[in-house]
Amino acid sequence: MSSPVDVIVIGAGIGGLTVAALLQHAGLQTLTFEQHTVGGGSASLFRKKGYTFDAGASMFYGFGKNDQSGSLNLHRRIFDRLGVEVRVVPDPVQIHYHLPNDFQVATYYDREKFLNELIERFPSEAKGIRAFYDELDKVFQIISAFPAGSLEDIGHLTKLAFKYPKKVFNLALQTFKSMGGEARKFIKNEELLRFIDIECESWALQDASATPFVNAGICLADRHHGGINYPIGSSGAIANALVDGIRKFGGKVRFAAPVDEILMKNGSAVGVRLQNGEEHFAKAIVSNATIWDTFGNLVKDDRYKVDESRFEVAPSWFQLHLGVDARIFPEGFHVHHIIVEDWNTYRDIGGTIRFSAPSLLDRTCAPDGKHVLHVFTTGVAEQWNKRFPKDPDYEAMKQRYADDLIRRTEKILPGLSGAIELQYIATPLTHKRYLKRYLGSYGPLLKKGQIVLQKPQNSTPVKNLYAVGDSCFPGQGVIAVTYSGVSCAHLISKKFGLKFEYL
Ligand SMILES: Cc1cc2nc3c(=O)[nH]c(=O)nc-3n(C[C@H](O)[C@H](O)[C@H](O)COP(=O)(O)OP(=O)(O)OC[C@H]3O[C@@H](n4cnc5c(N)ncnc54)[C@H](O)[C@@H]3O)c2cc1C
Repeated sequence: MSSPVDVIVIGAGIGGLTVAALLQHAGLQTLTFEQHTVGGGSASLFRKKGYTFDAGASMFYGFGKNDQSGSLNLHRRIFDRLGVEVRVVPDPVQIHYHLPNDFQVATYYDREKFLNELIERFPSEAKGIRAFYDELDKVFQIISAFPAGSLEDIGHLTKLAFKYPKKVFNLALQTFKSMGGEARKFIKNEELLRFIDIECESWALQDASATPFVNAGICLADRHHGGINYPIGSSGAIANALVDGIRKFGGKVRFAAPVDEILMKNGSAVGVRLQNGEEHFAKAIVSNATIWDTFGNLVKDDRYKVDESRFEVAPSWFQLHLGVDARIFPEGFHVHHIIVEDWNTYRDIGGTIRFSAPSLLDRTCAPDGKHVLHVFTTGVAEQWNKRFPKDPDYEAMKQRYADDLIRRTEKILPGLSGAIELQYIATPLTHKRYLKRYLGSYGPLLKKGQIVLQKPQNSTPVKNLYAVGDSCFPGQGVIAVTYSGVSCAHLISKKFGLKFEYL
């Protein structure tokens, strides 16, 4: 048992590290426990034979330089505050879509270029396309004017309401809208509406009708403002910089330190017990685990279990991490791609293929003459059964799925199957094991009709226990969990009577 600290954080994902870094900088003593040997969780890296692979995320928002962009340049602002550096390479295209009926579109950083490409395909929808993406931009303009803070802090909300009354009112109206509902007001063409669906599916894992308009406004507009950037040294550079920031101000981060239990006294969270039996105590505990893991495993009190029907459980992922000969990549090939082969099956498990080749931007990720290629699609843990290490049936199924994914990706990257020098396959079980995520899930999704404010905020039903990460508002994605980290730090600062300095 160590001497008590102010705040214990369970999990060094981007959400957990963000809270710890901001609180440590604000003067609180933090202690973070991560069960894995590296930080970053779904946005971490692993290295093999000269390659650096992104375990999950490769496409990053939040590095824009425009200071008017209040809540949306969070990574850059956090690193400036901590005095640590993450160098990034700008990516001129967010995603290159390969859709049925030979429909291809690249979502360029240059908004005009993107809109013109879309209009060229659907000339009769030109007015509607512009009007619809303008509406999204209006949401972006409202949100980016606000400083990032906790929606649970009445003082913060009051400040916003007084300073930006019209914007707050307008935003409140937008929160009830879905992306699909709005799109249909401006666009009639069914193929174009499907494109709006895949624009949502790409990050929200939901079609437009279930995607909140406000969230979409951020993702689909900020790509043309702050843009997409790739951190030099791969995704893990973000987590490493946060860990450096925490340690620089005296905080502690311990790896390979799984937490088994959140200790409670009289209904309040008071500490944690590690798997090795160590107990540590703090005035506040923050969980970066999913809502199901926090209240199903870590809090040993069934009264807090989360009803499965409260949210949709997002699927997990089947992933291929490949080291590939550079000769198969045509000149000017974009980094991030999505393939839809059939609109009737794109939302099925394994229906849509995503792939990224970040070494096209950051040459430090692959040896000379090679590239890293991360190909992935949705998967569910229930499909997979591993009876013992190196189970031949499990290994054979992995290879079958991998071969199929490579064959389908080869239509965009001819010669892929013959150019692979290294291959690592991750199933939903891998995801579950390495990230300790319930069913390896991408996290809780809102159900159709639920609004974004129905995502849990940072406080929880247990006193002194807070939550951060993609189970919380605003949701999945690295910049979103960073936002949840900022809002959690705001809330906890208030609890400790500290003035929260906006980023
Ligand atoms: C394949 C894939 C691709 C993606 N692509 C993108 C992308 O391109 N762009 C983007 O913005 N987002 C992307 N995302 C989503 C994004 O990566 C996640 O939404 C985000 O990183 C989640 O962060 P988090 O902090 O909520 O949780 P996590 O990343 O899950 O981190 C939680 C951490 O807590 C640790 N932990 C859990 N339980 C315990 C315990 N009991 N004790 C100690 N430690 C514990 C875990 O080991 C983990 O490190 C992708 C995700 C995946 C899986």
